[in-house]
Amino acid sequence: RGSMANSKYEYVKQYELDDTLLPGCWIVIRIDGKGFTKFSDLHGFEKPNDKRALDLMDECAREVMNEFTDIRLAYGESDEYSFVLGRNTDMYGRRASKLVSLLVSCFTANYVARWSAHLIDTPLRAMPMFDGRAVCYPLDSNLRDYLAWRQADTHINNQYNTCFWALVNSGKTPAEAQATLKGTQTAFKNELLFQGFGINYAHLPEQFKKGSVIIRRRALVEVKRRDDGSPVVRERAVPTVLHVDIIRDEFWESNPQLLA
Ligand code: ATP
Ligand code: ATP
Ligand code: MG
Ligand code: MG
Ligand code: MG
Ligand code: MG
Ligand code: MG
Repeated sequence: RGSMANSKYEYVKQYELDDTLLPGCWIVIRIDGKGFTKFSDLHGFEKPNDKRALDLMDECAREVMNEFTDIRLAYGESDEYSFVLGRNTDMYGRRASKLVSLLVSCFTANYVARWSAHLIDTPLRAMPMFDGRAVCYPLDSNLRDYLAWRQADTHINNQYNTCFWALVNSGKTPAEAQATLKGTQTAFKNELLFQGFGINYAHLPEQFKKGSVIIRRRALVEVKRRDDGSPVVRERAVPTVLHVDIIRDEFWESNPQLLA
């Protein structure tokens, strides 16, 4: 290292391309499970929503936020999670490959380590893998539209999948279920669920309908114990999972620190 002999080779370093993300922009890193249609099948995930698997995703995302404190907010659904870094973060010099690879590996390592706590009695039979990408958004409105896009996607997918699996569980083939739903609107799907299957969409769990948003909330946490065994409690910003609307203004007005 640093020796004369090494300098002959050092030029190869120049082949590394700069991938610094634009300054002053919001950075969103979205990760997504590789082949989770098959992976969820292989592990007998309940359809359309296996709560155990969603809770595992949420816990992994919380751990990522515990590890990387520059993450302001995360939003997750299905096999994906988006992490939002502050506009002016200097984490790893804003280098895209560093940020993406660290978040992906932190998430994946936690997914493996915490699997058995959530999917008790279901052995992990395949290696979970996640892809990742980084996107920059210059305006606050771009960031809000991005998150609205993901949450709207959660709703559309959940409504479709709830209908699809209700039809399949009632004896239709997947092809028939698909044909029944093709080109139908929200109102039709709600009626189908209610009239056909006695399911009131509005009563489904918020986690399924809205996905998961994680923000840091002030909370009292035990930081250590005194010699006499009594807890030392401090106020800390703790990543907290919520299943709430992030499309309307209310969420942003009640959490002004997020865009500040
Ligand atoms: P790719 O590698 O391109 O992402 P994929 O099969 O993962 O392929 P996605 O569009 O990411 O495709 O879809 C994720 C799949 O995982 C969906 O089919 C969804 O039903 C399934 N899935 C993910 N999480 C759950 C869950 N908690 N419960 C049931 N199914 C789930
Ligand atoms: P960074 O996050 O910037 O990569 P780092 O501490 O990982 O910081 P590296 O330059 O990657 O820095 O160095 C790797 C370190 O890990 C070295 O200090 C090395 O001694 C230690 N290390 C890695 N593998 C082994 C090993 N098999 N046995 C002993 N030490 C190891
Ligand atoms: Mg090294
Ligand atoms: Mg994908
Ligand atoms: Mg996927
Ligand atoms: Mg996905
Ligand atoms: Mg290293």
